Amino acid sequence: MDPKDKKINIFLAVLAPFSLAALAWALMGIPAGRIDTGVITLTVLTVFCSCYLRIQLPRVNTHLTISDALIMLAMLIYGGEIAVLLAIVETTAASLNIMRKGVPIKVKTIFFNVMTNAIAVFAAAKAVWFIFGSTDLVLQRGDFTSFIWLLTVMAAALFAVNSGLVAVFSAIKQNKKSLWKVWTDNCFDAVLMYVVGAVMAGIIVKALEQINLYLFTAVVLFFGIIYLTFRRFVEDLKKTVEKAKQAERERAEQAEEHVNELEHYVAELERSGAALQESHENFRHAAYHDALTGLPNRNFFIDTLKGLLQQTRENSESDFAVLFLDLNRFKTINDSLGHSMGDRLIKNVAKRLSGMVREEDMVARFSGDKFGVILSDLLTKEEATSFADRLAKRLAEPYTLDGRQVFTSAKIGIAYGNSKYPEAEDILRDADIAMYYSKDNEENYVIFDQKMHIRAVTRLQLETDLRFAIERNEFELYYQPIVGLENSSLVGFEALVRWNHPQRGLVPPNEFIPISESTGLIIPMTIQILHSACSQLVKWQERSGNATPLSVAVNLSGKHFGHPNLVEQINTIIAETGIAPSSLKLELTEGAVMENAETAILMLRQIKETGVQISIDDFGTGYSSLSYLHRFPIDLLKVDRSFVSAMEENTENGEIVRTVIALAKALNLKVVAEGIESVHQFHQLRILGCEYGQGYLFSKPLPVADIERLLEDKTRWQNILPAAPAAPPQNRDMLTPLRLAQ
Ligand code: C2E
Ligand code: MG
Ligand code: MG
Repeated sequence: MDPKDKKINIFLAVLAPFSLAALAWALMGIPAGRIDTGVITLTVLTVFCSCYLRIQLPRVNTHLTISDALIMLAMLIYGGEIAVLLAIVETTAASLNIMRKGVPIKVKTIFFNVMTNAIAVFAAAKAVWFIFGSTDLVLQRGDFTSFIWLLTVMAAALFAVNSGLVAVFSAIKQNKKSLWKVWTDNCFDAVLMYVVGAVMAGIIVKALEQINLYLFTAVVLFFGIIYLTFRRFVEDLKKTVEKAKQAERERAEQAEEHVNELEHYVAELERSGAALQESHENFRHAAYHDALTGLPNRNFFIDTLKGLLQQTRENSESDFAVLFLDLNRFKTINDSLGHSMGDRLIKNVAKRLSGMVREEDMVARFSGDKFGVILSDLLTKEEATSFADRLAKRLAEPYTLDGRQVFTSAKIGIAYGNSKYPEAEDILRDADIAMYYSKDNEENYVIFDQKMHIRAVTRLQLETDLRFAIERNEFELYYQPIVGLENSSLVGFEALVRWNHPQRGLVPPNEFIPISESTGLIIPMTIQILHSACSQLVKWQERSGNATPLSVAVNLSGKHFGHPNLVEQINTIIAETGIAPSSLKLELTEGAVMENAETAILMLRQIKETGVQISIDDFGTGYSSLSYLHRFPIDLLKVDRSFVSAMEENTENGEIVRTVIALAKALNLKVVAEGIESVHQFHQLRILGCEYGQGYLFSKPLPVADIERLLEDKTRWQNILPAAPAAPPQNRDMLTPLRLAQ
């Protein structure tokens, strides 16, 4: 059993003997003569009132019933015994009536109510008897003060016992520890009921003393009307209170709704604030990082450099170095294997780089195949160079992409940070300049020195001047004769450009061609050169008549070769100058053609369609194009000067020249030997069956005026040079395996 129920049962068991004693006392003590119509009327009235005239007082936790007043009235007029019985009847009837209305009420509770009321009335009757003796005596004495005290004692005793027992019962039921709190919270309000009851009982008794029963009935009716009016008033009051409570509830609900809405908005605000913060961070990240590799970008790199530079200014001991890296052959890999492979290579390089630096260092990707490294807190300068050395070696190891091995390597420029640098960008610029030197000098890394800067500035100046040179037509063409070796006769010229620089004088092509290539100026420059070489040849051909058909060879840069309008440009020049297309020979280096061999074949075919001839210049120095050679629609091979000049000392080189000539024969190509400087070379080449030659032995490249003098004397070389030997060269057509210099 629930311990609470157990306690209630014990409590009821304790009350039971007391209530039974009260009942027994009442039954035994009733004087038979006292049960008259008055008692019966009072009983009926009490039961009626307890069932139907019950008011719940607003704001206090109690009912006001007239039946309590009637029980007290019974005690005053008929004594305690009648009052006890009346209380038992009234409580039972009231409880049953509540049950009848469907209110769930436990039998235990009914018993408790009945017993409590019986005990309370019994206790009150005994208290009154003890203090005042019989109530009849007090009433008969007519002493008003005693009468008031009687009422007070009666009401107080009823209240004390009743409320005390109810408080104990409630405390057990609600499992509350403090009896006092239960009593003040739930029972104290009932004092009002007893006060009102006592006052009413007193008034009724006094009224009955003055008037007869009929008048009493009238009084009762009067009180009834007052009571009903009061009840109506109380009900109105209750309604008003209920309305006020409802309004309060609604207000509370509204307030809660507002609070919820507010909380919702605050949460929304916090969420959007967080989202804003996140996108702000994303933007920041994007602004400072490279999307492909996730490495810091140039902005981030420069910002970090600025910080380091500042530190160096404040504390000159903090040493750092900047490394500028550029990958070799990246463009070729990108073009031949595709951009996604290129991207993958870049990612792999980034990974290797990141894996090699310490936490305090920084690796950044600037663009394409260019990377930067900051090495901070260097103890010695050698640390940077040994790092660069290791880095170059590591990056040169093969990369496996999609199961294919790809090779690249890096050229590295190093610049040491010092407080004399005015801007962070200047350090990076110097590392960049040093990187170019490492490229030019085929070194893995180069440390920047001030002389490089001067040369870089000079280069920059040349770049600017070159733009004006085209506009001002500062280029002059020199022509180097090309001679038929069989009979030492002039067959044509190679046009070689010179720049008449207003301040520097004649600038050789090796100094400005690479700059014009990197700036894109090579294209308008070549068009100018082609134009002037073609119209010059047309003039010379006209002068010398049809007797000796001369040709002109013009060098075409690899940068121009890939240009989509090249064929159109050639056609325009042919049309404008009136040159016979077969008299024009375009010289392309082996490297330019091999950079993208498959596309080159298509391009060469289109060029060939214009009718011009194509030579492969500097053959044997660059890429090995042997496997492609038979697919290139070309006319001539120009054996590089290095092989020709070494023919005398080195038999291996002589062998190469011989093999190239044999290969050319097999492919039905003509051979031009470059750089013939001695009679011996001339002789050898002629023996080997080389058709044409060009070199200082015949003539240096000459300006137009000198060539015109030369044209007057076409047989000059026949007079100087020995005649061709009678016997054909040995093994002339035999092909031997080729090993060309790389
Ligand atoms: P290249 O096309 O191989 O030209 C031959 C170079 O060898 C010329 O140098 C010429 O003067 C030099 N040379 C010829 N015979 C001898 C000799 O017997 N001994 C020595 N030591 N050298 C000899 P140059 O004129 O300085 O031209 C150098 C390179 O510049 C050319 O090599 C060519 O690649 C490029 N170049 C010259 N003019 C042009 C041009 O108009 N356009 C383009 N794209 N490149 C040009
Ligand atoms: Mg050439
Ligand atoms: Mg050459």
